[in-house]
Amino acid sequence: MQHIGFIGLGMMGRPMAHRLHQAGFGLAVHDANPQTEAAFLNDHPGTVAAVGAETCAERDAIVTMLPNSDAVEEALSRVTPHLQPGTVVIDMSSSDPNRTRQLAGRLAEREIVLIDAPVSGGVKKAAAGTLAIMVGGNAAAHERSRKLLEAMGSNITHVGPSGAGHALKALNNYVSLAGLIATAEAVHVGQAFGIAPATVVDVINASTGRNNTTENKAHQYMLSRTFDSGFSLALAAKDVGIAAALGPSLGQPMVLAQLVQQMASDASSRLGPNADHTELFRYLEKD
Ligand code: NAD
Repeated sequence: MQHIGFIGLGMMGRPMAHRLHQAGFGLAVHDANPQTEAAFLNDHPGTVAAVGAETCAERDAIVTMLPNSDAVEEALSRVTPHLQPGTVVIDMSSSDPNRTRQLAGRLAEREIVLIDAPVSGGVKKAAAGTLAIMVGGNAAAHERSRKLLEAMGSNITHVGPSGAGHALKALNNYVSLAGLIATAEAVHVGQAFGIAPATVVDVINASTGRNNTTENKAHQYMLSRTFDSGFSLALAAKDVGIAAALGPSLGQPMVLAQLVQQMASDASSRLGPNADHTELFRYLEKD
């Protein structure tokens, strides 16, 4: 696998595609935002714009790193008619697992293999090439994609059939966001009781309540009030919404996930589309 099409050059896609370029893969890229696409082409000599049947037909694999299943289906509807049978499509976005399964079925009719390979670790780990990648779907296609995935991640696990990667990613983000909300509430209540916010975080970090937010987000983005982790609140709300719907669809209630989703959606509509997910901290502050 050498010639890759990469669609979606946002906060995550840009550093991930950069890693592929550094590793020597030939890239054809596309982003709906023309300035974003032009900036990437300018910074990466030898990379071409993924337009036209010829450029697409030469690709061994297409990687998508897009906001959601709607965007993935829209982008692929324009590319897949030009792909050769046997091409592997790797959806690394955090998409809806049930829609991923359906899409994999539709693409299989054209002998195109879709695997889902969403990531965890955020912008910093994307830049370092140390993302955790959870792969669902055809194991042989995963094996063929190994070198490509290894250029972007350091902890790559095949987790199950088509959609399983996307299901696990949504579940992970639910657990992560629940931890963030719990941390924000604990800091605010501790402060109201007279305990300094940094003390709350540091003591939790030395105790059993520590989690990814207390270790990697509380000082860095919340107490510092920079709120610039690079992961939007809107995308976080989308992810927990996927998880909250997945449980009941399988007969498994998810009471807490639904509450977390309501809080995230409400905060997202109040704080606007550009809010970072760490701004849940200020959303939960008393006026
Ligand atoms: P982003 O909004 O920064 O980037 C998305 C990019 O996709 C934008 O550049 C946009 O112009 C482009 N785009 C949208 N629709 C398109 C279409 N139909 N065709 C072509 N381009 C299109 O989002 P992001 O933060 O990079 O996240 C991408 C995915 O990765 C999401 O599914 C998100 O949930 C997931 N994710 C994000 C993070 C993070 O820390 N930001 C971490 C892990 C996973």
